[in-house]
Amino acid sequence: MTQSTSGGDAGRNFLSVADARSLILDALSPIDGWERVAVRAALGRVLARDVIAPYNVPAHDNSAMDGYAVRAADLASDAETALAVVGTAFAGRPFSGIVGPGQAVRIMTGAAIPQGADTIVVQEVARREHDRVFVPTGQKRGQNLRHAGEDLAEGSIALAAGTLCGPAELGLIASLGIAEVVVQRRLRVAFFSTGDEIASIGRPLAPGEVYDSNRYTLFGALSRLGCELLDMGVIPDEPAALEAAFRDASLAADVIITSGGVSVGEADFIREMMARMGEVSFWKLAIKPGRPMAFGRIGKATLFGLPGNPVAVLVTFYQFVQDALLTLMGVTPLPPAERFAVRADFALRKQPGRVEYLRGRLQRDGAELSVAIAGAQGSGVLRSMSEADCFIVLPEDCTAVQPGDAVFVQPFNGLV
Ligand code: AMP
Ligand code: MG
Repeated sequence: MTQSTSGGDAGRNFLSVADARSLILDALSPIDGWERVAVRAALGRVLARDVIAPYNVPAHDNSAMDGYAVRAADLASDAETALAVVGTAFAGRPFSGIVGPGQAVRIMTGAAIPQGADTIVVQEVARREHDRVFVPTGQKRGQNLRHAGEDLAEGSIALAAGTLCGPAELGLIASLGIAEVVVQRRLRVAFFSTGDEIASIGRPLAPGEVYDSNRYTLFGALSRLGCELLDMGVIPDEPAALEAAFRDASLAADVIITSGGVSVGEADFIREMMARMGEVSFWKLAIKPGRPMAFGRIGKATLFGLPGNPVAVLVTFYQFVQDALLTLMGVTPLPPAERFAVRADFALRKQPGRVEYLRGRLQRDGAELSVAIAGAQGSGVLRSMSEADCFIVLPEDCTAVQPGDAVFVQPFNGLV
């Protein structure tokens, strides 16, 4: 394991974001198990087998435009050509005859190209007089034709195993006449919050307590990924309860996600319990917010012990956990992290040594995008996430940002 050293926190070894991501992703492979589902039910699911085109799409050469199907050989190069219109080809109702020399067929978009014809003249340039059509010069042989198999050739891979199905994939599967596909089974994820001060909603807070928000943000993020959820509630910092929770979760789920109790030097039993029950590494990440994180296994389940602070939960979820879950779900290749540079509309000083994920708001100024800071940036201030529409990612070695500097942003709409 490579560790990078933080300049900001003297002498302590911090694990870089990139190294932590590779340690996690290298340790994981897709879960076993698949099911056959109807096309609509494949939305948000991952294909477990290639979808093969059973025939050409489109099935036959057809017209890309409304116009006239003609024979290029008939067309004079130096003058308008008059052709006899001998019939009409509609989409779904082909012209059954043959287009002979000196003839043309009126044709609609999507209609099969009649036998004998090889070129489509668009109706806008053709001049029609009763049963004759006049075609101007300048037509090219084969123009405005869509060829059989141009979209997909029979026997080719239409969609590869590992594809996460969205609207386009559902349509593509249906366009092949396929009614059912084989998808990976859903990933089972158990999650719970920890901490004596954490109260569930539905009752008044006692002094010193805070309401559990992490279980709700995790519910939202995990639901969007299409996981099967096992919400185990709030577990107090108490050995017997924690042990039972970890045991139950590891038996029932592929993945266990906890929040809270992983930072050093607290009266938290959760680290001890994780270490005792499984093989778990406790990391100090070169990231802000979200420094402490645990990763490993308990029984057969993959464990993510996320920090307790609500913003840190979402930052670590999106930077580490989401791609890990997609990997377990069998998604290949992983979608590339969407990230681009825009102008900063703020000034800021920063300690070197950690990647900082600020919450930002993109602003449009004419054609140019810039980004402002969204609200107070404390790692407990969840409102900053809600007001933001992107992370502003400041690299480890960055020490200051001036207005007008280029900074990288990761838009939330790129997150699954
Ligand atoms: P910890 O990582 O357990 O030290 O928690 C760090 C901070 O996050 C503390 O202020 C906790 O009260 C808070 N916190 C931990 N878990 C939750 C939760 N489930 N919902 C809201 N805040 C939490
Ligand atoms: Mg705690």
